[in-house]
Amino acid sequence: MKLGDLGEFGLIDSIRARVGAAPGVYRGIGDDAAELEIPAGHRLLTSTDLLLEEVHFRFAWTSAYDLGRKAVAVNLSDVAAMGGLPRFVYVGLACPADAEVAQLDAFVTGVLDEAAEHGVILVGGDTCRSPGPWVISVTVEGTAPAGTAVGRDGAHPGDLVLVSGTLGDSALALDLWQQGKTPDPWLATRHNRPLPRIALGRELALAGLATAMIDLSDGVASDLEHILQASKAGAEILSSALPLSPAFRTQLERRPELFDLALGGGEDYELLCTVPAARAEEALSAGTRTGVPLTIIGTVMERGAGFRLRDAAGGVRPLRVRGYDHFCR
Ligand code: ADP
Ligand code: MG
Repeated sequence: MKLGDLGEFGLIDSIRARVGAAPGVYRGIGDDAAELEIPAGHRLLTSTDLLLEEVHFRFAWTSAYDLGRKAVAVNLSDVAAMGGLPRFVYVGLACPADAEVAQLDAFVTGVLDEAAEHGVILVGGDTCRSPGPWVISVTVEGTAPAGTAVGRDGAHPGDLVLVSGTLGDSALALDLWQQGKTPDPWLATRHNRPLPRIALGRELALAGLATAMIDLSDGVASDLEHILQASKAGAEILSSALPLSPAFRTQLERRPELFDLALGGGEDYELLCTVPAARAEEALSAGTRTGVPLTIIGTVMERGAGFRLRDAAGGVRPLRVRGYDHFCR
């Protein structure tokens, strides 16, 4: 069956039927607005992301189910990067009338599975016909106790720079697809099924360990630069310290130029944070406890030091890698 046969309200009803009741949700899908409660003494954290077919994803490389999961996951990752707990999610969806209902069902299943895995409830959205590509807009609302959320602006000279997980895997998978190759399943999963680091982000925030934090959507070089600009600081990163997966290292041996993807590749959705040196051990333990290892990759410096990369031989070069800019090439 095509979406054109089911209709907008048929689709919304089918989504609504799959969402159960949840604490804090007085009204979810079905009214003019959702009516929600957040715990006393907490603040609301909201974030939104747009995913456009052919710009952010291709059905040749991702399934509708994984797309639903990823659309939610990347938003949860933004709340994780503030140290918050994601609670509610909204899905705006535009797709062509000849889209298969089965494909939409798979997408919605992905959305609901990812939300459920993290205790998040779908409470609303909007649906319309697209004359061409799919457009997906997901909004997340989370909470954090007042005064605990971590911004990008708190890094101080002397803080250490830490990153979770491994770098460049997602960009490497994309690079292989773009060359007409098939990445191994582990790498493909790193691209299609990012894991929002919610528990780790909360631990770092609630214990007051992270002075600044961001999730990696554009690569360490670009995302650390966002922290440095907001914090009016500089930094030095050690190239030998960047955490790389076995799958990434295997490819890197054959193609040394791939190192640029570890620095500047997008969509890892790992957490990048700065932590006072005296508390680095505590932060590393938080990584161990939450099952998401953290690695120290560098040091925050005075702004005048700039942003630089030190290689294994001791050579230093400035890092001015710009992340992906949708309007500039
Ligand atoms: P309105 O005309 O007020 O925008 P709609 O008919 O678009 O209302 O939506 C009806 C209800 O269904 C609203 O509660 C809205 O949040 C929800 N909704 C619409 N599209 C989606 C979607 N794609 N996912 C989840 N909820 C949706
Ligand atoms: Mg509407």
